[in-house]
Amino acid sequence: MFKSLLIANRGEIACWVVRTARKLGIRTVAVYSDADAQALHVREADEAVRIGPAPTRESYLVGEKIIAAALATGAEAVHPGYGFLSENAAFAQAVMDAGIVWVGPNPSSITAMGLKDAAKKLMADAGVPVTPGYMGEEQSAGFLAGEAATIGYPVLIKAVAGGGGKGMRLVEREEDFADALASCKREAAASFGNDHVLIEKYIASPRHIEVQVFGDKHGNVVHLFERDCSLQRRHQKVIEEAPAPGMDAATREALCAAAVRAAKAVDYVGAGTIEFIADGSGALSADKIWFMEMNTRLQVEHPVTEEITGVDLVEWQLRVAAGEPIPLRQDQLSINGWAMEARLYAEDPAKGFLPSIGRLELLQFGEAEGGRVDTGVYQGAEVSPFYDPMIAKVIAWGEDREEAREQLGEMLAGSAVWPVKTNASFLVKALQHPGFAAGTVDTGLIGRDGEAMAQPPAPSAEALRAAANALMPMTDMAGFRLNAARRRSAWFLLDGEKVEIELDGAGDEAPSASVLITEQGQAWQLSAWRHDAAHGAVGGSGAIVAPMPGKVIAVEVAQGDAVTKGQKLLTLEAMKMEHTLTAPFNGVVAELNAAAGAQVQVDALLVRIEEEAE
Ligand code: ADP
Ligand code: ADP
Ligand code: MG
Repeated sequence: MFKSLLIANRGEIACWVVRTARKLGIRTVAVYSDADAQALHVREADEAVRIGPAPTRESYLVGEKIIAAALATGAEAVHPGYGFLSENAAFAQAVMDAGIVWVGPNPSSITAMGLKDAAKKLMADAGVPVTPGYMGEEQSAGFLAGEAATIGYPVLIKAVAGGGGKGMRLVEREEDFADALASCKREAAASFGNDHVLIEKYIASPRHIEVQVFGDKHGNVVHLFERDCSLQRRHQKVIEEAPAPGMDAATREALCAAAVRAAKAVDYVGAGTIEFIADGSGALSADKIWFMEMNTRLQVEHPVTEEITGVDLVEWQLRVAAGEPIPLRQDQLSINGWAMEARLYAEDPAKGFLPSIGRLELLQFGEAEGGRVDTGVYQGAEVSPFYDPMIAKVIAWGEDREEAREQLGEMLAGSAVWPVKTNASFLVKALQHPGFAAGTVDTGLIGRDGEAMAQPPAPSAEALRAAANALMPMTDMAGFRLNAARRRSAWFLLDGEKVEIELDGAGDEAPSASVLITEQGQAWQLSAWRHDAAHGAVGGSGAIVAPMPGKVIAVEVAQGDAVTKGQKLLTLEAMKMEHTLTAPFNGVVAELNAAAGAQVQVDALLVRIEEEAE
């Protein structure tokens, strides 16, 4: 086994690799960009090397800088994690050419599976059932329309170089085909530098089922059963589980055998995943499950497989890269219980899942027996706008699916993150969806029913009252003391909204300026509302700050203007999305620090609204 390892990644996966390497007595080297100087993976590794400025094109995607860091620190091997350079055959080759062990498959296997059309052809030749469709060279619009008609609508147009759920168009009617093809090709050319597409039959009630495979340098290939990743939002995975609901032994055997055939066809070494699409309109059966693509790396959702098999997949990756045979034979692998993972993101479901950037003043995860949290951040760390805003993968294990589902719900509902917004309450509601609870999930579930899940929950009356009493204990209620028999109430600011809450005088602690309420995975700030004070001091002030770094693209008001609650003040473009900032209450524009075209930093005060006297 090698003695030192460089991890060419960041975030939770870099932290997990460091952990496993340490367990095996391997020295670890992290790499980081300027935005990550204080990141958790840098703190946890034995050594860390700066590789450049924040943008990935200048740091995590620059192979030469990473190889130079490995050579400078004497790292004997490189683990690429997932994303970034993990599926870059040229990088894998360059690592090997530098005399460093590559923890991953042969570059030729990566290339063979790199383009979806070539991969499908290869798989069809190896006897693996592939999604029916057209995957040829001829790309003229008229010809492709003919192929689509032959396949039969609905069809899916896919960029052969696509990934991460991008470069796909669902076409339901023949008359929409030409436009969809043109826009798909435009997106593919811009995002992947390759506008070739393939056409696939769109599988009804699709379920995404994938098989974890593992190969070594001695020609052995095993599988570690399947995962179900059907709960998706815009073709991106939201909740993953293992095993797949409704999978019988015969279907599992046929599916996993096909996955092993697929891996053997490309002499696969290391951890890989064969993704299949299944017709979920009835019971699962092997003749209604087709190969979709292979991911030649560790997958984000590897923990659910680890939790049901007891295998640390990163440990296997390191052993296999060092030339050891796969530690277990197929007949020594079995499924124990059920595991479920949710991707906890710094994003705001109520605002179209806009990334929520900033410092994690509060970061707590709910606990459950057998629970696991893979995270790359800590309380006090920053969620930066430069990378994937994933906060953590929250993973639960249970004897059966129901137990895993309940435990995951508890872990998410018990999480408390502030002031950064998260999708925790969205995930809690997704877990409670009757279809998901029954295991009859298909990839369209969130598209159909997701709007209700994205609605921000309100704090319970009980939690509100408790917080209000903590803010305004009996002793502080002089101005509110009424007839003892009558109810008292006072005004507060709940995340900037003026609300009236009944008080029962139960609070007996020293009053605080503001209180955080955390419930259902959501956090709200409650503060005292003072008629006289300028509201600047409290969270729910009229201060409109930039939620993230960006560019002001329009200003709709002028200093001194009277505005009404909800009125549009300005538009900010950040993280490729437009974001409208509105007046929190009726008032006057007392301060205006924004001009169209200006670049603004996160938390910059853009506008301040002064409330009209009541
Ligand atoms: P999966 O099929 O496993 O969901 P994806 O292709 O969605 O895989 O995941 C890879 C993506 O993960 C990359 O495109 C990138 O956006 C993101 N990513 C890469 N590295 C990290 C990291 N260290 N932490 C969080 N996200 C990452
Ligand atoms: P990517 O490289 O972006 O991960 P995939 O080919 O793996 O692309 O497809 C991503 C997702 O799109 C799948 O998980 C599934 O939800 C959906 N999908 C792909 N192919 C089909 C199909 N033929 N029918 C229905 N849904 C599909
Ligand atoms: Mg995929």
